[in-house]
Amino acid sequence: MTLDLQAYQERLLDLQEQIMGITDLVQDAAKTVELDQNRVGRLSRMDAMQGQAMAMASADRQSHQLKLIAAALQRIDDGDYGQCLECDEAIPSARLEADPVTEFCINCAAQRERRDG
Ligand SMILES: [Zn+2]
Repeated sequence: MTLDLQAYQERLLDLQEQIMGITDLVQDAAKTVELDQNRVGRLSRMDAMQGQAMAMASADRQSHQLKLIAAALQRIDDGDYGQCLECDEAIPSARLEADPVTEFCINCAAQRERRDG
């Protein structure tokens, strides 16, 4: 089975660009909160802090996603993209279509989920 690596690479780069765009917006939002802290009341300050915490949580998710994308791009470069990191079996292209950063075949992913709780 031959994968259209270039298509996956383009998709991954697109995703990367999208997430980086969102990350910039989130960082701007977090900055705005800091600047406003001096002149807002207690209640809205708590609102602002909550918003900041949410922004930071989604920034965490995004940086995790960026790591997965970078790893997938690296695997394309290395020529082992589309292989399960656990058992070396080929990951079905339907699975890669659905989630191009996926690192494991369905069996290993299910096993890892069970193991990690
Ligand atoms: Zn596997």
